[in-house]
Amino acid sequence: ATILALETSCDETAVAIVKNRKVLSNIVASQIAIHQPYGGVVPEIASRHHLEAINHCIDRALNVAKIDWSDIDGIGATCAPGLVGALLVGATAAKTLAMVRNKPFLGIHHLEGHIYASYLCKPQLQPPFLCLLVSGGHTSLIHVKAHGQYKTLGKTRDDAVGEAYDKVARLLNLGYPGGPAIDKLAQTGNSQAFPLPEGKISLPEGGYHPYDFSFSGLKTAVQRLVRKLEQKTAPLPIADIAASFQETVAKSLTRKTITCALDHNLNTITLGGGVAANSRLRTLLQNSTEKNHLRLCFPSLEFCTDNAAMIACAAVEHLNRGYNSPLNMEVQSRLNIADILEFRLNERE
Ligand code: ATP
Ligand code: MG
Ligand code: FE
Repeated sequence: ATILALETSCDETAVAIVKNRKVLSNIVASQIAIHQPYGGVVPEIASRHHLEAINHCIDRALNVAKIDWSDIDGIGATCAPGLVGALLVGATAAKTLAMVRNKPFLGIHHLEGHIYASYLCKPQLQPPFLCLLVSGGHTSLIHVKAHGQYKTLGKTRDDAVGEAYDKVARLLNLGYPGGPAIDKLAQTGNSQAFPLPEGKISLPEGGYHPYDFSFSGLKTAVQRLVRKLEQKTAPLPIADIAASFQETVAKSLTRKTITCALDHNLNTITLGGGVAANSRLRTLLQNSTEKNHLRLCFPSLEFCTDNAAMIACAAVEHLNRGYNSPLNMEVQSRLNIADILEFRLNERE
């Protein structure tokens, strides 16, 4: 099936057309520059810019793919989770198009999209597998049992890893968004310069939760380190701090992911979300999966951060299985990926 999908859950206005697992067009209008002065995404501003950009992005997606409406089998949109005002723009546009063009509508969970990004780079990928989902709002180990069937085996107890990156970047005056800036700077620094604590979740019966993450303690440790260094060293060794932080994060994510995969007899690991673009995480996971004879599959960089191709790819799968969503489906700011079936997906008559 060929799907046109819209993604407006945060600060990217994205439209893509995907035929099965092949991307025909992938348009992303980023609002990063607009939100930069505020040091983060301002919801009302995001919604307004989605509204201004969406029609143009849809036209561009059709032009680049060189197809017209008669070639499109369904319209998809991210419906949860995300900023409600922002989600509403994409979901309402998609429902309107579905109605006017008489096509099925498919409401998609944003994290399911991040998981499906891996299929764009490896079309032969099949469940079951373990997905390490690392983004601005989430850090989870998700067991993908079958299409649409998810079980969260581990998650962060406090900050998401992308959030930790953004906060540490602010401490180092690297601006917003922080992930790419820290990644770049870390490559010039010494990752062994400062030992930092890896977050661990204690269990009541003793020991540590093997698959859950914590990043707020690490962020506080970096904060304390910066305060201490500021008093004696000038200039601040920001490259070494960035490298030490990045190494701690990548090691922690890699170790828990490998343990989780081995414990659950899953021999394929996939990556998804904005932090999946991180160079150190990709390298460490590559090395560890090879050593443990596991398969690793990660999306190309453009499909790690928010995009609509991953949403379209998930929608293709649902449509091919005979599902679509009611036009009165609501957008939701929060929704667990395991609750996705209650979320919608009515059997087509
Ligand atoms: P969610 O998907 O949880 O709703 P989101 O959509 O805002 O959140 P994404 O767009 O998937 O998040 O990812 C954005 C995050 O990825 C930001 O926190 C950004 O700093 C981080 N990021 C992007 N590139 C890199 C990188 N190379 N290294 C580390 N972090 C990165
Ligand atoms: Mg984003
Ligand atoms: Fe995202």
